[in-house]
Amino acid sequence: MEKMYFDHAATSPIHPEVIEVVYEAMKNHYGNASSIHNFGRDSRRIVDNARMVFAKSIGAKPSEIIITSGGTESDNTAIIETALKREQEGKHIITSAVEHHAVLKPMEYLEKLGFEVTYLPVDKKGQVDPKLVEEALRPDTILVSIMYANNEVGTVMDIAKIGAIIAENESTAYFHTDAVQAYGTEDIDVKRDHIDLLSVSGHKINGPKGIGFLYVNETIHLPSFMLGGEQEKKRRAGTENIPAIAGLQKAVEIIQPQREDRRLKYHELRKQLIEQLNQANVVFEVNGNPDSQLEHIVSLWFENVSAEQLLMSLDLSGIAVSSGSACTAGNIDPSHVLIAMYGEKSPIIAETIRISFGLGTTSEQINYLAEQLIKVSSRLKK
Ligand code: PLP
Repeated sequence: MEKMYFDHAATSPIHPEVIEVVYEAMKNHYGNASSIHNFGRDSRRIVDNARMVFAKSIGAKPSEIIITSGGTESDNTAIIETALKREQEGKHIITSAVEHHAVLKPMEYLEKLGFEVTYLPVDKKGQVDPKLVEEALRPDTILVSIMYANNEVGTVMDIAKIGAIIAENESTAYFHTDAVQAYGTEDIDVKRDHIDLLSVSGHKINGPKGIGFLYVNETIHLPSFMLGGEQEKKRRAGTENIPAIAGLQKAVEIIQPQREDRRLKYHELRKQLIEQLNQANVVFEVNGNPDSQLEHIVSLWFENVSAEQLLMSLDLSGIAVSSGSACTAGNIDPSHVLIAMYGEKSPIIAETIRISFGLGTTSEQINYLAEQLIKVSSRLKK
């Protein structure tokens, strides 16, 4: 049985060229980037080159990039360090109810420390209304953290509008966005959209796990989240992971020029899947916002079909999908994103699966996926 992977939003396969780069770096570039000898300088060059590539991909300067261990560390750093640095200026933070736990957990932590957090609601399409950001802004608001795109339903937020609102209101709040899911397909420009802090992770774009970066606007000086050595110009302690950094650089170099093509390809695959389900008269709904959507995330509600059972039955047919957010894997708590969209009593919460496309997803695979979805969902229907 051929195994088919439709869970790229959870994590993505490493691109073969990235594997080569990682292997080569592991074998040959083992110097500590802080060492002043030849081996160290060699590793330092890898870090410096990668930083330039990361910066260019989001319209930033190399000095504005802090290399981290991924999305979680970038989010934690942006949120917790902003709060600790600015607590004398204000203790109010704005975020949304549908953020990833890498944002929500630091918010809960800060609430315990006496900060006040406003959780903006979303509409049924998972969208944060930028007007709500404007209404929630206060003189003591020090941070607004709204994700670029949601990892469960794929709704893309109006980041440009939110950035403009914060700037036009002359608010001193920093604007952070978690761009972990959006980075591979969306056109991100931190200066254009008035973004102060932005998180990216390597393993969603066919790069290695445990690597990512945080963009920090040059006017902002955040204390280091990790305490120890003076790496990353004292902004992130810890010996640089050269193979992962080189691998992420390669992943970025591969994906950036392909962004638009990938988006079009995923749009077609999405259309194909939905058309095939429609033709079979399956009763289903697509969660998200068709007008502002990550094309590679397809969140589907099959009425009266348990998502857990559907997921397990598909798995037996070799198909990997996810229910709710895969980053909380092993955790069967209902999705906070779907609750925020539909209310906690909605049957949609227990009956939604997430299908996500990526490198290697083909039209033939979609045929098989649709076929199995039709068969299994009809069989499981209560
Ligand atoms: N933010 C979002 C939106 C995510 O989807 C994820 C991972 O799924 C993360 C943050 C965490 O990133 P990482 O796994 O690199 O720590």
